[in-house]
Amino acid sequence: MRYILFLLLFILSSFSGSKNIYSQTFTPESIKDIKANCADCYVSNQDNLLSETAVNKINSMLRALENETSAQILVIAINDIGTYSAQGLAMELFNKWKIGQEGKDNGAIIILAMHNRETFISTGYGLEGALTDAISTRIVNNYMNPYFKENDIDNGMIKGVEQVSNIIIKEFRTNGFEGLAKKDSVNFTTFFLLYIALTLIFIILSTIKISKQTKPFGNYEKEEKISAFNKASFSWKIIGVLFPIMLLYIVIWYSLFFRPKVRRTKVNCNKCSNPMHLLNEKEDDLYLSASQIVEENLKSKDYDVWLCGNCHNTIIYSFDNRLTSYTVCNSCNAKTTKQTDDKIIKNPSAFHNGKGQKTYTCKNCGKITTKEYIIPKGSSYAAGGAIMGAGMGRGGGGFGGFSGGGGWGGGMSGGGGGGGRF
Ligand SMILES: [Zn+2]
Ligand SMILES: [Zn+2]
Repeated sequence: MRYILFLLLFILSSFSGSKNIYSQTFTPESIKDIKANCADCYVSNQDNLLSETAVNKINSMLRALENETSAQILVIAINDIGTYSAQGLAMELFNKWKIGQEGKDNGAIIILAMHNRETFISTGYGLEGALTDAISTRIVNNYMNPYFKENDIDNGMIKGVEQVSNIIIKEFRTNGFEGLAKKDSVNFTTFFLLYIALTLIFIILSTIKISKQTKPFGNYEKEEKISAFNKASFSWKIIGVLFPIMLLYIVIWYSLFFRPKVRRTKVNCNKCSNPMHLLNEKEDDLYLSASQIVEENLKSKDYDVWLCGNCHNTIIYSFDNRLTSYTVCNSCNAKTTKQTDDKIIKNPSAFHNGKGQKTYTCKNCGKITTKEYIIPKGSSYAAGGAIMGAGMGRGGGGFGGFSGGGGWGGGMSGGGGGGGRF
């Protein structure tokens, strides 16, 4: 009697546990591609969790959905996904199978991992407008998991598919594809395209305007032509804070094409009309003054010397370097003066202004000048001269306003979704 009871228990336990004993642990590799050999199949039922009737019903619902809306929903019902989460597995399959129409990304995967007690709806970018993460989570928790809890897998899955289908069809019938796609992504794309178009317009406009303002200057007026470019491009460079591509275009145009071309354009001798030639940096030192050579060495100015081979006449052009830290010396007039010291004479307090002194030294004539300045009361300072607080914090504005527009890269495929455990 005891033996029979034991045998009975053994048989019962092996029956009830049979599914777990013989079912495999699924990974993205071991789940068969539903669409690989069967256009009308939408269900992966490798553990036979769903009845044949349920599979047929789901297939026909999802076929009808795809026919009407082109949205493609796939259903996976399996037991064990090991250490995978339902969400993680769905996302990997999403990217592997490339669900939904190409370019529309309008697919979704509904996954049930019975043994792990997890359900998840993973939606493609093109469906996120209709099937938001919140809606997916609600469908899982309200329509699917209550059935799964009772081991009624057929009904849980059919109800879930029904809900998903209804929402997509409703959105499609009222708003078409735009309604299905995430709305702010459309806005962002529109904004982005508009921005690119504006950049192009500014590039064309700036080219026309700058060219026009530099045109009146002839081959001999090299310095004037270059400063005309700088003057004409100034306002475009300010706009360039918002349109950096246009700014980059102007900078490249100027430094790689405009300025070199103006400097290299051949001139004829203004005395004998003979073509002149441009001397190289070493040769031209013979024709430059000592202070001009200092300026060239400090790179605050660059000089081009054109020599007439016939009458030895020269024309000297001077090109200002606007990016240098040197300024013009008020004693020798060369652009060779630079700040060499900055010290605090009187510390500021909370109630009284302080005083600082900057020292400038000319690298050409050696003249030293000092300038006193006020340090506003209440500002802190660091030894060595850098005044903190006052006047700091410039720049930085303008940029940065673009991020937060949302949508970049975020879940192109299988990005969204919602689910829950039961
Ligand atoms: Zn000449
Ligand atoms: Zn000087």
